[in-house]
Amino acid sequence: MNTWSLVKKDDRHFINPFLVPGKQLNFDPKNEEFTKHLKAVTNKLLLQWEKNVKAEIDYTGSTNWDDSSIYTGTSGYALLYFEAGKILNSAEYLEQAFFMAEKCTMHLHKPNVKSLTFLTGAGGPLALSAVCAHFLKQPEKEHHFIHRLQSVYHSFEVVTNSSSGLPDELLYGRAGCLYALLFMKQYCKEKVDGDLIVHIAEAIIESGKRLAKELQHKGHKTPPLMFEWHEQKYLGPAHGFAGILYLLMQVKDYLEPGVLENYIRPCLDFLLDVRFPSGNIPSSMGSDRDRLVQWCHGAPGFIHCFVVAAKVFHSDVYLKAAKQCADVTWERGILTKGFSICHGISGNALAILHLYKHTNDLVYLQRACQLAEIVMDDRPHEFRTPDRPLSMFEGMAGVIFFLLNLLDPEKSDCSFPGYQINSFDKA
Ligand SMILES: [Zn+2]
Repeated sequence: MNTWSLVKKDDRHFINPFLVPGKQLNFDPKNEEFTKHLKAVTNKLLLQWEKNVKAEIDYTGSTNWDDSSIYTGTSGYALLYFEAGKILNSAEYLEQAFFMAEKCTMHLHKPNVKSLTFLTGAGGPLALSAVCAHFLKQPEKEHHFIHRLQSVYHSFEVVTNSSSGLPDELLYGRAGCLYALLFMKQYCKEKVDGDLIVHIAEAIIESGKRLAKELQHKGHKTPPLMFEWHEQKYLGPAHGFAGILYLLMQVKDYLEPGVLENYIRPCLDFLLDVRFPSGNIPSSMGSDRDRLVQWCHGAPGFIHCFVVAAKVFHSDVYLKAAKQCADVTWERGILTKGFSICHGISGNALAILHLYKHTNDLVYLQRACQLAEIVMDDRPHEFRTPDRPLSMFEGMAGVIFFLLNLLDPEKSDCSFPGYQINSFDKA
């Protein structure tokens, strides 16, 4: 019996019904009733989602494979099967993941400069196919897909040449190519080309230096790296700084000496400086509207970035910033936009869960569980329906991805799909 209800604070978010100012949460995340409920609902949603996917997809023919992206398309479905395979220890789900990812690679359009990354381009299905082949012990196919993805990146000069027109951000740019390679590397290890990783990282840094210099010549005060997408200097992980800096820190061992201290640290400190008084972070440079609290824009997406910064620089300042982002996310993260991981409650909860994984502070697990109660609630609510209701970033696949990780966070990676890397995180 649910004792809470949702009341709108404004058109963006609901008042957090679990938050009593000045009082600690009185909730035991390990209590039997909650864990049983979580397990049952996760299972039910997974089966329901599978049924809907099977109804949507033409398995033997060629329809519905047009969008093969991780973000809204079929390889995002494959990524959920992969996650379920790992967490539930199911060979059947892993095989289904491989089947779908490989099928996506057969339906890829000829790669072009707008379709290279993990989340929106060829990088997703190819990297996921390589990793599935690795898990299923099919070394020839593993090699084939690694080679195919690397050949695509080698064939587009824009990927490693900073003077070209490719953006640097995660969704459509170089950071998204870097992620595809690192996603493979965390499992397939040295089979992935380290030189290519270095060249992409260097191109991102060169591009960042160039824009920073241009702006400084025009009299603007900027950190030593600056990035833009569609002429906006975005700060969140999807299109801006947080995603780029997160991945550059993951490849710190590949970078020239001095880059971390002289370029990356000042950019992180710049992010600390531009925070709103509330602790939230603007969606782009110059924006003074403290509105968005979702993974793609605002505080939640910075949690992962500051957590890794705290590890890399052994700094409590960044850990404190991550905690402050988590507080904002907890207070204002129950969004009217709904449950998605990109701009909804599950993404916010997954970010908070990541902080639990890093700090072992039970308060973050409590918060993630309470947010899970909202996404598991079957009473009618005023949430908006996404355009792609089964997809990873807008729909149910992302919600189930979060719930699966919550089942046993000690054992799961609790990492954000298409953004976080695990094995590099453990240093
Ligand atoms: Zn979004």
